Amino acid sequence: MRDVLHLKGVAKTYPGARPVEVLRGVDLVVASGEVVALVAPSGAGKSTLLQIAGLLDAPDAGTIRICGREMTGLDDAARTAARGRLLGFVYQFHHLLPEFSAEENVALPLIINGKKRAKAFEKANEIISLTGLSKRRSHRPAELSGGERQRIAICRALANDPRLLLADEPTGNLDPETAERVFEVLMKAVRATGLSALIATHNHLLAARMDRVVRLEGGCIAE
Ligand code: ADP
Repeated sequence: MRDVLHLKGVAKTYPGARPVEVLRGVDLVVASGEVVALVAPSGAGKSTLLQIAGLLDAPDAGTIRICGREMTGLDDAARTAARGRLLGFVYQFHHLLPEFSAEENVALPLIINGKKRAKAFEKANEIISLTGLSKRRSHRPAELSGGERQRIAICRALANDPRLLLADEPTGNLDPETAERVFEVLMKAVRATGLSALIATHNHLLAARMDRVVRLEGGCIAE
């Protein structure tokens, strides 16, 4: 199986009067089609690691390969292009645009990537139907429940057919029942599209249902 994400020796320290050494040489591989849970207590560096894997922040040392391509040292434009083409993001908070409907929120990244409006909406609605929210597609985020908003955020992350989904506590803001429903939708969508995922969570029950669990401990990965 080809690796979709390959991190090697990734280190990161936040500078300051009291530098915070967060990552001390992270080695991590996510294979094609694999769903990996990244588990660690709050403050251990999960978000830092996801931001580096997502090319949103640069490591102090180490290398990042995505779909076999070396990403370390790319300029901003090349990094942004790689992000748009290869990566999808889901956060703890949905970050949907409040003035747009659910389907517009999902269609926007497609239009930004150059798809014609009609095609973008067609694709957006295909993805929305995967999460069972077709009836809510004209609603704005404020008219959706917390779980529905998060399901639309998942649709938006999948819009451009990424190869790797990076999710930072995607069910962290939800009550257990809603978290379960959103997790099921997330897994169904990931399996239907065959993409790989790295999902940070401190919910051990959900983590155990992914293909593999890795722990971030003392700035390194322990399986
Ligand atoms: P997690 O996602 O596991 O909660 P984070 O990656 O957000 O952990 O943070 C790891 C550590 O780095 C924490 O101690 C946090 O306070 C610190 N940290 C995060 N971002 C910054 C920053 N921009 N500047 C300084 N310290 C930071």
